[in-house]
Amino acid sequence: MKSSSPADGAFALRDGALHCERVPLEAIAQRFGTPTYVYSRAAIEAAFRSYRDALAGRPALVCYAMKANSNLAVLDLLARLGAGFDIVSGGELARALAAGGDPRKVVFSGVGKTEEEIAQALAAGILCFNLESVAELETIERVAARLGKRAPVSVRVNPDVDPKTHRYIATGLKSNKFGVAWSDAVALYRRAAKLAHVEVVGIDCHIGSQITELKPYVDAADLVLDLVDELQRDGIRLHHVDFGGGLGICYRDEVPPAIGELIAALLARVDARGHADKTILVEPGRSVVGNAGALLARTIVVKRGAERNFAIVDAAMNDLMRPALYDAWMDVQPVRPRDSGAIVCDVVGPVCESGDWLARERALALAPGDLIAVMGAGAYGMSMASNYNTRGRAAEVVVDGDRVYCVRRRERVEDLFAGESVLP
Ligand SMILES: *Cc1c(COP(=O)(O)O)cnc(C)c1O
Repeated sequence: MKSSSPADGAFALRDGALHCERVPLEAIAQRFGTPTYVYSRAAIEAAFRSYRDALAGRPALVCYAMKANSNLAVLDLLARLGAGFDIVSGGELARALAAGGDPRKVVFSGVGKTEEEIAQALAAGILCFNLESVAELETIERVAARLGKRAPVSVRVNPDVDPKTHRYIATGLKSNKFGVAWSDAVALYRRAAKLAHVEVVGIDCHIGSQITELKPYVDAADLVLDLVDELQRDGIRLHHVDFGGGLGICYRDEVPPAIGELIAALLARVDARGHADKTILVEPGRSVVGNAGALLARTIVVKRGAERNFAIVDAAMNDLMRPALYDAWMDVQPVRPRDSGAIVCDVVGPVCESGDWLARERALALAPGDLIAVMGAGAYGMSMASNYNTRGRAAEVVVDGDRVYCVRRRERVEDLFAGESVLP
């Protein structure tokens, strides 16, 4: 079985050319230029609804992990469907609020929250801080006392479960910087329960990203529920259990569990362990937006070498960092496939780094001017983009049926140094 990603079908060949929903990508390139991120509204909404529907009839909240794609239009679409947000910075909180997100549905994760960010989140009235250390607990208590507030907290526990993913995106191992060690969690809860300006409300775990198996999730869930039981025996009752995000998508041939399948497996554990009364939270990022987006780029030159051929395109590692950072395999599709003339080539950008590549050893028939689409680029694409080589960041558009909306204009070169100055 191929991945049952709800985004399947958002991008398809029609009359010999790649479309997003009902819009030809050629029309988008002509109107908005390249490189441009193209997102399908229907695909984003379908993925979110899969989470929401799988949790229907329960006290539950889907907190979209906005670092995957934090464009205001994306956040707004999800907020309209009832999404909460998982944030990792004060900047993300500001974005969530600017997009009309409800602060009472925001959870704040991250290992290095500053006092300023904590104060900002307390003033906004967020649902919960996901604590990642004892030191952070003390800081939150101090800031909350100063502001005369009570800070709702969960402890992000580290279950030491191997999510079987790339080492850069495994987060729930003992060796990772994330979360509180299993053996320290109960003591931290006891300490938190005694503080006047902190209120213990939940427990949280997030073991990694691009997870394609159910087992690590179920194992982590059972460990988390063990802790819930232990805390309950200690007189600490939790209101919610947050199972984090991390569900993988199909980039190449992975077959991750369907969203509904994952949620059903988690709920089965929750019920079997007698915790049906708890509010369930999840923090999906990639699986909501990943397959809903593509990066549209244009071929500049095709360079045939003695050992390798290169298709040099106008998108680069600054636009899409996943290949350079994680050695990620991303599918490259010609927007108008040619019948013949394919050569094996590396698809690379113009940036001055050998690490600047988007795809390696692909059979593609490309000529200068031809458009390509890098598929599965809706998550950790634009949100990781930089201005390296003084390259303005790409435009972003959302396709809705036969309409296209520009949701972020292409960055202009004068934007790039507007904040800089020279010495007198
Ligand atoms: C990044 C992150 C997520 C989302 O991970 P995905 O793999 O994109 O689903 C969820 N929770 C936390 C704490 C994160 O850091």
